[in-house]
Amino acid sequence: MASGDGIQVPSRLPLLLSHEAVLLPGSTARFTVDSPRNMHLVSQRLLRGTSLKSTIIGVIPNTRDPERDTDGLPALHKIGTAGIAVQVVGSNWPKPHYTLLITGLCRFSVSGLLKERPFVLAEVEQLDKLEHYTTPITEGASSSEGELGELSIKFYQAAVQLLGMLDMSVPVVAKFRRLLDSLPRAALPDVVASMIRTSNKEKLQVLDALTLEERFKRALPMLTRQIEGLKLLQKNRKMSSGPENEKRVRKGGVVSGRPFNLGEEPEDEDGDDIAALEKKVHRAKMSDAALRVCLKELNRLKKMPQSMPEFSLARNYLDLMVELPWSKSTKDCLDIQAARTLLDNDHYAMDKLKRRVLEYLAVRQLKTSLKGPIICFVGPPGVGKTSVGRSIARTLGREFHRIALGGICDQSDIRGHRRTYVGSMPGRIINGLKTVGVNNPVFLLDEVDKLGRGLQGDPAAALLEVLDPEQNHSFTDHYLNVAFDLSQVLFIATANTTATIPPALLDRMEVLQVAGYTREEKVEIAHRHLIPNQLEQHGLTPQQLHVPQDTTQDVISSYTREAGVRSLERKFGAICRAVAVKVAEGRRGAATDVSAAERPPQQGDKAAAPPEMPIVIDHVALRDILGPPLFEMEVSERLTLPGVAVGLAWTPLGGEILFVEASRMEGEGQLTLTGQLGDVMKESAHLAISWLRANAKTYQLTNMGGGPDPLEGTDIHLHFPAGAVTKDGPSAGVTIVTCLASLFSGRLVRSDVAMTGEITLRGLVLPVGGIKDKVLAAHRAGVKRVILPKRNGKDLEELPANVRADLDFVTAADLDEVLNAAFDGGFPGTGHTHTHPHPQLSSKL
Ligand code: ADP
Repeated sequence: MASGDGIQVPSRLPLLLSHEAVLLPGSTARFTVDSPRNMHLVSQRLLRGTSLKSTIIGVIPNTRDPERDTDGLPALHKIGTAGIAVQVVGSNWPKPHYTLLITGLCRFSVSGLLKERPFVLAEVEQLDKLEHYTTPITEGASSSEGELGELSIKFYQAAVQLLGMLDMSVPVVAKFRRLLDSLPRAALPDVVASMIRTSNKEKLQVLDALTLEERFKRALPMLTRQIEGLKLLQKNRKMSSGPENEKRVRKGGVVSGRPFNLGEEPEDEDGDDIAALEKKVHRAKMSDAALRVCLKELNRLKKMPQSMPEFSLARNYLDLMVELPWSKSTKDCLDIQAARTLLDNDHYAMDKLKRRVLEYLAVRQLKTSLKGPIICFVGPPGVGKTSVGRSIARTLGREFHRIALGGICDQSDIRGHRRTYVGSMPGRIINGLKTVGVNNPVFLLDEVDKLGRGLQGDPAAALLEVLDPEQNHSFTDHYLNVAFDLSQVLFIATANTTATIPPALLDRMEVLQVAGYTREEKVEIAHRHLIPNQLEQHGLTPQQLHVPQDTTQDVISSYTREAGVRSLERKFGAICRAVAVKVAEGRRGAATDVSAAERPPQQGDKAAAPPEMPIVIDHVALRDILGPPLFEMEVSERLTLPGVAVGLAWTPLGGEILFVEASRMEGEGQLTLTGQLGDVMKESAHLAISWLRANAKTYQLTNMGGGPDPLEGTDIHLHFPAGAVTKDGPSAGVTIVTCLASLFSGRLVRSDVAMTGEITLRGLVLPVGGIKDKVLAAHRAGVKRVILPKRNGKDLEELPANVRADLDFVTAADLDEVLNAAFDGGFPGTGHTHTHPHPQLSSKL
C-alpha cells in the first residue's frame, strides 16, 4: 500500500467497466455510465458513500460494450487506473444515465474478483507510487540514472518544443504548461499521452507499460508525431493560403481534439476573397445601376475590418447580387403542336382551359414581349390548377417556381425588408429568382385569394407592382434597392374564388374558371393519371395492382365528396400502400427460399409464394382497406317529411347540396333561423314567408289549425344543417320557399330535386352564380332534377354532355314554376298562376 497526500488506494476496489475512454493516471476524463453494473456502482457506492475513500474506484478500460453483456461479465483487462470520482451528474434523458468526472491516481492490476453483482468488486494491487502524480517536482526526483534519465530529458524537451508551437491563450495549453513545470518527470508520459491527440489504443499501450522506461519509450513517438504534424501544417500554411487551409489547421488540432490557434491571423485570405467577389460582380452582367451599387458596396467592404457586423451584411448583400440571374435566361422552345399534346397528355378534360392556355402561348410565340393580362385559374381545390401551371412551364421549357401567397399579410414578404432592418432579407419574388437562377421562369402565385392584410402594409399592393406589365420591368425589392427586370417572368395565379381577390389585382388578371369534375371525368382522370402516378410513387407496377372501373366509381361516390380529385388521389395512395405491404411480404417470403420462387408454386409452399398478381381491388378489398363508406346517398332519405327541401350552394371548395328544414309549432308568428346564416340569407327567409303569406290562398296553404294565414298562432323554425359553416347569399331563396310551402301544405317535396335561385317579394326568380359547380354537386349527390332561374339557362351549355343527359333541368322565371316542378304532380294552385291571376307579377315580367 502506498500513500500520498493522505489518499490511499484501498486493496478492494469497485470497478467501473469502460468501453469508450481510457483513463491514465494524472489526467481527468468524463465517462458516461448507463449499463446496469456501472449504474449500480454509482448509485450504491458513489452516491451513498460519505468518505473520500468511497469516491475511489477502479476504471478498467477496453471491456466490451457493457450494454450488450449485462449477464456474463466480459473478460477484464488486467490493468486499470484507480481514480477519484470528482463529479457525478445524473440525467433521465434520453434514458437514465450518469456522467462521471474521474481523475486518475495510479495504475493497479486486478488480482482477483470478489463479486460481480450488483457491481464488480475486485482485489487489486497498486502498481504506481501515488507521489509520482501528486508531489511537485523536487530537486533530484528526476535525476534518474542512465538510459531512463536520458529518455526523460528527451521527452521533457519534446514536450517543451510542442508547447512552443501552441497558443498560450488557449486554456488547455496553459494548463499543459503548468503541469509540465510542476509534475515529476515520471508522471509525464501518462499526462502528456492523455493531453495530446492519441487514440484509445495508444493510451492503452501507455497504460500497459509498467516500467517507467517502457512508458517513456511508448509515449515519445506519439509526442514527436504531433510535433512533426504541426511543423508540416505550419509550413503548408505559409506556402498556400485560402479558406481550406484554416480547416486543415483546425483538423490537425493537437490538444485533445480541440481546435487551436497558431497565433497568426489569416489576413491575406479576406483580400483574396474580396478580389474573387469583385470578379464575380463584374461577371454577373448586372444592370448599370446595380453594378454601381455593388462597386460602392465592395469599396466599403474593403475598408471594413472583418469583425464589424456590417461586414457580413454587406457580404451577404453582394453574394445575393452576384447570384441573381441579371441576364441569364432559358431559351423558349415553344411548339404549339407539342404543347397541345403535352397538355392533353398531362390533363384529362379541362378543354376550355387548355384551349385558352394554348391561345395564350401562341400569342406569346408571335410576340415575345407580350404585355397581356396575367392568367388566373379559379376553381375548387384539387382540380389541377397548379399542375396545369407546371405543364405550361414544361411546354415552354422554362423553370417553374411556386410562390404560396396564402396567409401572407406583410408586404415585405413580396418586396423584401430594407437593409437597415435587423434580419432583413429579400422578398419571395427575388428569392424565387435566385432559386431558379434564370430571369424568365414561370412563377405560380398560388392562392392569391388568400392574401391577408396586416399592419405592415398591403401585400396585394406590392403584388400589383409585380404583375403590372407597365411597371414590372423595374421592380424594386427593398432589400436590393435597385430595379430588377421582371418583364420576362411568366406569372400565373391560382385562386379558389374571385370574391376575395383584391379588385385592383383582379383587374390585371384574366380569370379562367376551372369547375369541378363529373364522376365520369374523375374515373377517366383516375385511370389515366392518378392510379399510374400513385403506382409509380409506391414502387408498384400495373402487373401487381389492378383497380377496375367500378371500384373507382365506388371510391368516388362512397369515399370522397369533392369537386377536384385530390382526396381521390389520396385514397388511391392508401390502396397502393396496402398492396405494397402485401407485395413486400410476398417478396420476403419468396426471398427466403429462392428456389421455391423460381419453380411454379406447389401446394405445400403457400406461405412462401407471393400473392397472386395482379392484386385486384374489388369492393370487398376496398372495404378492407378504406373502411366503411364515408358518404352515403342521403338525399332521398332526408326527404321523407314535409318541410325539407334541397338547395344548391356554391363555396370556394366547389358546389354543394344544402338541406333546408322547417318545422312549426304553436306560438305567436315568430320566425327562428338557425345554422349560422348571413344577413342576406335571413332576408331571403323573410321574403319567402311574406310571399307565401301573400299567396296562401292561391296555393291552399294553411296554419296548424287549418286557418288561411300560415303564421297565425304558429311559430316557425327554419334550419340549415351543417350549422358550423357560415352560409350566406341570396341563392337559397327558392329552396326556402319550397321548403315552407311543403310545410304549410303538408306535401312532400320530390326526393330527387335540388334547386337554386334568388327570389323577389313579387315571386320572381332571379339568376345566381356558380351554376356549373352547383349542377355538378347535384349530379354527384344523385339528384335527378335541377330547378334553376330561367336566365341561368345559358350556363347549362358549359356542362359536360353526360351531365346534361343525366339531369332534367327546369328553368323557372317565377316561384309558381318552381313549386310546380318541385312537387310530384305539380302544386295545387299553380295552374292558376299561369293564367296571370296576379297582375303585379305579369307586369314585372
Ligand atoms: P389545385 O392546384 O387545383 O388545388 P393540383 O394541381 O394540385 O390542384 O391537383 C391535384 C392533383 O390532381 C394533381 O396530382 C394533379 O395531377 C391531379 N389532377 C387534377 N386534375 C387533373 C386532370 N384533369 N388530369 C390529370 N390529373 C389531374
